[in-house]
Amino acid sequence: AQEALRQSQKMEAVGQLTGGLAHDFNNLLAGISGSLELMQTRMQQGRLTDVDRYMTAAQGAAKRAAALTHRLLAFSRRQTLDPKPTDVNRLVSGMHELIQRTVGPAIPVEVVGASGVWPALVDASQLENALLNLCINARDAMPDGGRITIETANKWLDERAARQQDIPEGQYLTLSVTDTGTGMSPEVIARVFEPFFTTKPLGEGTGLGLSMIYGFAQQSGGQVRIYSEIEKGTTVSIYLPRHYGEIDADDSHVVLATLPRS
Ligand code: ADP
Repeated sequence: AQEALRQSQKMEAVGQLTGGLAHDFNNLLAGISGSLELMQTRMQQGRLTDVDRYMTAAQGAAKRAAALTHRLLAFSRRQTLDPKPTDVNRLVSGMHELIQRTVGPAIPVEVVGASGVWPALVDASQLENALLNLCINARDAMPDGGRITIETANKWLDERAARQQDIPEGQYLTLSVTDTGTGMSPEVIARVFEPFFTTKPLGEGTGLGLSMIYGFAQQSGGQVRIYSEIEKGTTVSIYLPRHYGEIDADDSHVVLATLPRS
């Protein structure tokens, strides 16, 4: 029953995704064909003054439609990951300055790197993107300022805890981002991993951040957990499988992420 429920929730998410996209795309197509029609009428009437304006409108809509399909392609293309033994503390300190610059001076970013944290087997540049995305979400949840804490920890999941998280029993390390922002209602939490789900104003959120992080964590053999309380704040934790063995110094180098949307 659990599995069936999960399956139907997935189907619903896919339905919402394709339905929403088709809707937006249709609106843009309607705009383009409307502009073309007007252009034709004006040309037949020999009134060329408005033609330029309709052409610009059609071009704008076509560009937006292209951006929409581009986003969808970027989402559906399963990312090819390059997992390597990674020192996550080092990765975080390498990102600290960029993150602080991105969230601005009203939000101090504190890093709490547990000593003796296990190495993770993960694609480092994807993890950097995920971390930056989480911090941007945290910033967006604190319009009046607040604090961000980035924390790493070792986590042992016994059989029961692992089953709850849908990952194998074993040793994980967690990378958590905590904010002192608005928090999320249970209704929002239930939907945050859906592609294109966003509560942000039109043009500001894509609704892809957390769904991509979810996919990335799953593909990496880990999970994402969210703990949130309204008006208190939110913690998002990425669980990553532990790498056993040494880290080659060359393997743990930090590649700076390119800045996504802000
Ligand atoms: P986007 O940020 O583009 O909206 P996401 O998938 O990253 O897309 O997030 C989806 C939604 O989850 C956000 O619109 C917001 O409502 C909620 N959310 C994500 N992170 C936080 C956070 N740290 N605090 C409060 N709400 C959040």
